[in-house]
Amino acid sequence: MSEIKLNKVVVYGLGAMGRPMARNLHDHNLLIGVKNRTEGKTQAMMNELNLAEFEDDEDLFGHADCVLTCVSADDDLKAVVHGFMDYLQAGSVVIDCSTVSPNTARSLADDLASKGIAFLDAPVSGGVEGAKKGSLSIMVGGEREQYKRASEVFAAVGSQITHMGRVGQGQATKAVNQVMVAGVAQAVCSALALAENCNLDLKKTIEVLSAGAAGNWFLDNRGHTMVNDEFNVGFKLSLLHKDLKICQSTVAELGAQMPLIEDSIKEYAELMAMDHGDEDISALIRLKRALFEQPGENHE
Ligand code: NAP
Repeated sequence: MSEIKLNKVVVYGLGAMGRPMARNLHDHNLLIGVKNRTEGKTQAMMNELNLAEFEDDEDLFGHADCVLTCVSADDDLKAVVHGFMDYLQAGSVVIDCSTVSPNTARSLADDLASKGIAFLDAPVSGGVEGAKKGSLSIMVGGEREQYKRASEVFAAVGSQITHMGRVGQGQATKAVNQVMVAGVAQAVCSALALAENCNLDLKKTIEVLSAGAAGNWFLDNRGHTMVNDEFNVGFKLSLLHKDLKICQSTVAELGAQMPLIEDSIKEYAELMAMDHGDEDISALIRLKRALFEQPGENHE
């Protein structure tokens, strides 16, 4: 049984990431059904992909050999998995692509193991663009044998798929990724706010810096948009704020504290309080610009 490849997938969570992942699984003939808290999205995707109807949740999950979850945060994931786990057959696998804490991954793996169901934590990087193209980078924790069974599922949604070790190591890798993402955003937003205040030609500045030692993906892809005050692209800052809380507790469990994480949490919380939570993480430049304001000035 354990060598049989997974090919009857239900996707749970039809948000910005889950929808394109479901479409790619469907294109690879691996999808049998979808499920979402808000029913309208379930029906819309079933219509779009012409998926077969199941009688109820018991019938849907009972026919699956794999459930791929992609929901917002830790408590949402726990509620979702506890809601369907009794319907799954022993030998099936839950693959979670949400960003949650390594502890949540480990506790869900234990709950599922008691019913003979395997769990792989498989957080992703590459954003909505990567999800649409099926080119996500996926960091996987869990038993190697189960990882191998899921190879076709992963290949349908990602292009860089790496087994990182036991359950929880996928989410630990994602926490490392998010610390790096936050640090790059701090560096680029601070530097471009300085460039603006030095009255530099911003197009030329971004071009020349991109080609040198400071060049990076965020500068290439978000540099021009942020200096033009376009923040409706990319990765919502409220999601990075949630992820940085996971990074904070992961670091705290190791007895440490990181100013980069603490400062970023504080600043993204400030932007959320200013109603910018749905903007891209490059909206951090708003706060970096404020550092150059003279007392009494206000650009908001
Ligand atoms: P999203 O568009 O906000 O969608 C969230 C999904 O979670 C929706 O389907 C929502 O259902 C569902 N959900 C939330 N709370 C729930 C609950 N209590 N019970 C059941 N379902 C619930 O978010 P997303 O951008 O797809 O992100 C999903 C996950 O991927 C997050 O963990 C995020 O950090 C991670 N991620 C996102 C990106 C990105 O660029 N967006 C990149 C990498 C990783 P409703 O439709 O009913 O609200």
